[in-house]
Amino acid sequence: MTYVEKVLAQLKERNPGEPEFHQAATEILLTLKPVIERHPEYERAALLERFTEPERVVMFRVPWVDDKGKVHVNRGYRVQFNSAIGPYKGGLRFHPSVNLSVIKFLGLEQILKNSLTGLPIGGGKGGSDFDPKGKSDREVMAFCQSFMTELYRHIGADTDVPAGDIGVGAREIGYLYGQYKRIRDEHTGVLTGRGLSYGGSLIRKEATGYGLIYMTEEAMRVRGDSFEGKTVLISGSGNVAIYACEKVQTLGGKVVAMYDSDGCIYDEKGIDLAVVKQIKEEERGRIKEYAARVPGSVYKPGCKNIWDIPCDVALPCATQNEIDAESAEKLIKNGVKYVAEGANMPSTLEAIEIFRRAGVVFLPAKAANAGGVATSALEMAQSSGRMFWTAEQVDVKLKEIMVNIYHNIDRAAKDYGFDGDYVMGANIAGFEKVADAMMAQGIV
Ligand code: NDP
Repeated sequence: MTYVEKVLAQLKERNPGEPEFHQAATEILLTLKPVIERHPEYERAALLERFTEPERVVMFRVPWVDDKGKVHVNRGYRVQFNSAIGPYKGGLRFHPSVNLSVIKFLGLEQILKNSLTGLPIGGGKGGSDFDPKGKSDREVMAFCQSFMTELYRHIGADTDVPAGDIGVGAREIGYLYGQYKRIRDEHTGVLTGRGLSYGGSLIRKEATGYGLIYMTEEAMRVRGDSFEGKTVLISGSGNVAIYACEKVQTLGGKVVAMYDSDGCIYDEKGIDLAVVKQIKEEERGRIKEYAARVPGSVYKPGCKNIWDIPCDVALPCATQNEIDAESAEKLIKNGVKYVAEGANMPSTLEAIEIFRRAGVVFLPAKAANAGGVATSALEMAQSSGRMFWTAEQVDVKLKEIMVNIYHNIDRAAKDYGFDGDYVMGANIAGFEKVADAMMAQGIV
């Protein structure tokens, strides 16, 4: 049994009932085998055992009262996974599917993603099984205030800086920040994704979606290709999906389908993004209303059928494991050339292997969706410098970071003899820096 296999077996035994964490750890560790072979000193320092064990896990009760006076109890989490290269950084997810396994998989991925940005940020993730959908603003505020009443002890501008994720947008960040400020009596960059009126950064809202497209555009450019005239599928219709769609459209691509957790819309002429924004951002409504408002479009209940639609580019931007082996096969049969992951771990291990064998250009989440956290780090820089950059300044930096990440993962893949395999490239390039910092800091 190799060192990597031994660590993986131990990890599964020590963390039973955490399938998402096992899946992410398997994907990462297996690709690190060639790095471990080059560095036998890592095994002597138990580096992988330390890398896969969070530095700290906080789980807590979050009681709150709904509009009818009923008391609810949710569970809150913050996993502070690795601070070797900077303060813990990573989003908060509010969704009924959240559990320790989901937060740990996201935290582990986040370590490498943050390293890839080239900025000094460690990896963390948090959230709750609370579902903001269908709740009044007052209920969401009550929940957020209760959540922060515990979380505030564990975070800080130089310790751990959470941001948004699924179910945590501008409204939730506002309530969370308000409560933090009230308890601590200080205005600091303790959360990112803040509103522009209280320390947020321009382009943060757009960053993950735009960044995804900047990287995909670069992968196309080096192949003499572009978005012009391409047919694109985007899953989800939240923050990442909407701004990925916006950038694809400015580059001349045609997005024909999107979805939410109830069903999928198909618009052969190209999605009218203003209608999607109105429904999802303004009204907090359901995507099916699009079909009622835009003649010629169709709505189908269920999400999976989106991957049956022929396309050149597929951009999964909703949640984990949305593309399985069957969907991957369908996409390939229908001629997909590029798959870039806006969501975290949207493709199963089997789907990734199918894309790899078919020669699809596959840009994995930890590289492709790093634009959000990179811009969060830019927000942190603006907060500590008490300054404010223009949208153009932030956008230029974001694009530069995404193009650099692409070339960095391309270089790492080539360096280890896996030309064009960006899963290998992203894991190796992200890990190199973290491993180096952990080795330098001793056994901690
Ligand atoms: P949002 O909450 O804004 O949007 C999520 C979208 O995905 C919604 O359309 C939602 O539908 C859909 N969705 C969520 N869960 C499911 C599910 N189980 N099945 C089908 N559809 C689902 O989240 P974001 O856009 O912020 O995040 C999307 C993904 O991108 C996540 O994987 C997140 O971790 C990742 N990401 C986000 C970053 C950011 O900056 N926001 C940064 C990096 C990664 P519905 O409204 O019906 O729930």
